[in-house]
Amino acid sequence: MATDYDAPRKTEEDTESIQALQERVPDKLSGVVDTEDADNLGSLELAGQDLANVELDVVVLPPQADEFTCVECFLVKHRSQVDHETKLGSVCQECSR
Ligand SMILES: [Zn+2]
Repeated sequence: MATDYDAPRKTEEDTESIQALQERVPDKLSGVVDTEDADNLGSLELAGQDLANVELDVVVLPPQADEFTCVECFLVKHRSQVDHETKLGSVCQECSR
């Protein structure tokens, strides 16, 4: 069979081309190709999750039961800071001065 002899040759060529690729890629990625599959990917995922959590903490601030969002300054304040209500919502004492 001719394919029986061709098979190992193809594999050799594939290996060579892969090696050629591996020699090029580190130039762009600073040699992190080997760890990309295992450690690097894991740490990246963790970092992303950390960032996501931080962003959620900062951006999403739903007023709690004892809090309100002032329609003038858009700050979330304690309900004890409410000066008066408007059609739009509550106005804090700071904005009512
Ligand atoms: Zn206000």
